[in-house]
Amino acid sequence: MGKLYEELCKDYRFKEGMHTCINCGTCTAICPAAEFYRYDPRKIVDTVQRQNDEEIEALLKSETIWYCGECMSCVTRCPRKNGAGLIIMALRNLSIKLGYFTESEKGRQIYPLTRVLTGNVLKLGYCVHPATYKYEDHPESGPVYEWVLNNKEEVFGRLGANYRGQGTGILREIPQNDLDELQAIFDETGGTERIKLVEEASRKKAAEMGMTPDEYASYAFTHCSRGHFNSEKETL
Ligand code: SF4
Ligand code: SF4
Repeated sequence: MGKLYEELCKDYRFKEGMHTCINCGTCTAICPAAEFYRYDPRKIVDTVQRQNDEEIEALLKSETIWYCGECMSCVTRCPRKNGAGLIIMALRNLSIKLGYFTESEKGRQIYPLTRVLTGNVLKLGYCVHPATYKYEDHPESGPVYEWVLNNKEEVFGRLGANYRGQGTGILREIPQNDLDELQAIFDETGGTERIKLVEEASRKKAAEMGMTPDEYASYAFTHCSRGHFNSEKETL
């Protein structure tokens, strides 16, 4: 048994999700991500169960472990009670722990997501918040949303929100003592350590790519090479 496989075995999600795969392909047939991406959860489970470290390392550095949407449809269908989605969570965890996530385009997206989402949670108490939502980063939301963001106090007020106000209501200001509690939860559960790991590995990769951390974050967030999607098959 290889060292990487041993590491995976320590993860409770792996213990729960990995039994014996019979390669039936039911997980792939049901998987919504496999509809769009060049992605096959059956192959991931099969690769892992071979317990070969070289193959597992290649998987940890690959695009494929980042395509899963963690919907868990596969978990309910597998005749052997495997959970491809759970195995993938353990693989992602190890990929981040070892810094391998920076080797793939989809893995590198962890950096901007960590900055924005955990930054919002810890500073504002919300996962997504209009105060930090930049229209320039989301042109797909359309020109109306640019107007909404420029008039957010009025628009959200009309929709019944208590935008950045005290007391109760949607989008209210979260009191500092609640934010301190959130920070304590992150500290206690390993979230803070995880953010640090992502930050360090991403800064190292940014330097390798000749970018500042901000340029790297923006590039990782917006850049999408060809080759991820099934729909590209004919044209590649
Ligand atoms: S459904 Fe279960 S047994 Fe079948 S290929 Fe997927 S993980 Fe293996
Ligand atoms: S959890 Fe992942 S692998 Fe399983 S069906 Fe959903 S997207 Fe596919």
